[in-house]
Amino acid sequence: MSTKYIFVTGGVVSSLGKGIASASIGALLETQGVKITIQKFDPYINVDPGTMNPYQHGEVYVTDDGTEADLDLGHYERFTSLNLSKDSNHTTGKIYHTVITKERRGDYLGKTVQVIPHITNEIKRRIAHFGKKRNIDVVISEIGGTVGDIESLPFLEAIRQFKTDIGKENVLYIHLTLVPYIKAAAELKTKPTQHSVKELQEIGIQPDILLCRTEKSLSKDIRAKIALFCNVNEDSVIQAKDVKSIYEVPLMFHKEGLDKIILKKLGMRPRKENLAKWERIVDIIKTSEKKVTIAVVGKYIDLRDAYKSISESLVHGGIANKVCLDVKWVDAEKLVSNGADKYLTGVKGILVPGGFGDRGIEGKVMAIQYARENNIPFFGICLGMQCAVIEFAKNVLKLEKANSSEFDKNSPHPVIDLMLDQKNVDDKGGTMRLGAYPCIAKKGTLLNKIYGKTRIKERHRHRYEFNNNYRQQFEKSNFIFSGLSPNKKLVEVIELNNHPWFIAVQYHPEFKSKPDNAHPLFREFIKAAMEKG
Ligand code: GLN
Repeated sequence: MSTKYIFVTGGVVSSLGKGIASASIGALLETQGVKITIQKFDPYINVDPGTMNPYQHGEVYVTDDGTEADLDLGHYERFTSLNLSKDSNHTTGKIYHTVITKERRGDYLGKTVQVIPHITNEIKRRIAHFGKKRNIDVVISEIGGTVGDIESLPFLEAIRQFKTDIGKENVLYIHLTLVPYIKAAAELKTKPTQHSVKELQEIGIQPDILLCRTEKSLSKDIRAKIALFCNVNEDSVIQAKDVKSIYEVPLMFHKEGLDKIILKKLGMRPRKENLAKWERIVDIIKTSEKKVTIAVVGKYIDLRDAYKSISESLVHGGIANKVCLDVKWVDAEKLVSNGADKYLTGVKGILVPGGFGDRGIEGKVMAIQYARENNIPFFGICLGMQCAVIEFAKNVLKLEKANSSEFDKNSPHPVIDLMLDQKNVDDKGGTMRLGAYPCIAKKGTLLNKIYGKTRIKERHRHRYEFNNNYRQQFEKSNFIFSGLSPNKKLVEVIELNNHPWFIAVQYHPEFKSKPDNAHPLFREFIKAAMEKG
């Protein structure tokens, strides 16, 4: 059978959860034994989100092959069995870059290079890439942005053409829309959905299925009205009601019959049906009563998307321990002004996440000192590990003004320094130490116990590292270098000898955690927090 293609578009407003919807569609199809992949098309001109501020774009997700990608790829990997790569995230920047490179090479000699057909052809080539290359039943392509944006037009034009190119029986358009509840009228309103579908129809796309985000249940009448005005079957108006946990979405879609409708419309038969994994996850989320409070001390706490994978991994750690998580997001700068006690008294675990730039560093260092001195389980990630090194250098080794050379070029003790192979790098895009690298855990360490093995592979995104000139000095004072790169030159993991649970990693374990298979570091961190009592 030929590969089938599902396109997911969004209308009315942004932030409706197109990424979670696409991931949930992928998850549902996997429960039916369908082999899928998911990819994201982002209409912005940056080549990738790696150079963007998290305030603009949320977290930068990193795949095994070192691609700096949209955070939706995190949802795709967490919800499914996929391990994605550079082929799974396409931007206007990448697409134009390819076309312009070809133009300079003379591939279009004699022709005027235009949005249609050259840009749209490149988009279509990328859509079809997985179908052609691998043995995949369904390729799900999420189109970023909202229908009506100027930037997304070439993508919508390309997906319109795609159906004509490969045959209507192989393509399905799913549109995510909003059905707002107007309190004053006590009514759900369908007009915004009608308008956004009309906008798609003007471009030549007739959605096959509508996913309707709503606070209240859609009555039969409302469904019938949407179906009539939007030209879709009534059973293809799918209610996507607000749920407490994103991991409820696949089962909710299943109850609405979405999997059956998709397969029917694509002329496919389910190979099996196995929803057990999702039933187990949702059951634990709904029945866990005991609470554990974890503080995350960062600088983007008013924008949780910046720490998306970390907050999801904490949830996974909670599921693994059958406990409800109460995550306290602490602003590192406020911690400096008001003192650590105000925010950290009573918390059972402290996590300091990754980041760039010196804002908030002092507060993160204070939080780590608090965790170290009060025997509170501490988990540092990337910049969080670097801050743990700075804290130890300052407060235990008494190395005055110890710092990372990222924050103080003239520090007399640059305990964190630029990696050797970063010294001559000028370009900012895609030049960090990126992607999966091996790390060897020292036998008998906490790290070794947590993973249950010595050979680890984790994803990285950093330019700075522990400065080896200080290794001996640290080692003499209960500081353990428990994880090193295979050539022993890069410090990957540190821990403390005289503390119940203190571990910090240079890599990003949060990119490899799943709801049904929590990353061991998150699982054990939550366990240690629970044991704190
Ligand atoms: N800014 C630090 C570095 O580049 C940490 C990076 C991170 O936390 N991802 O090394």
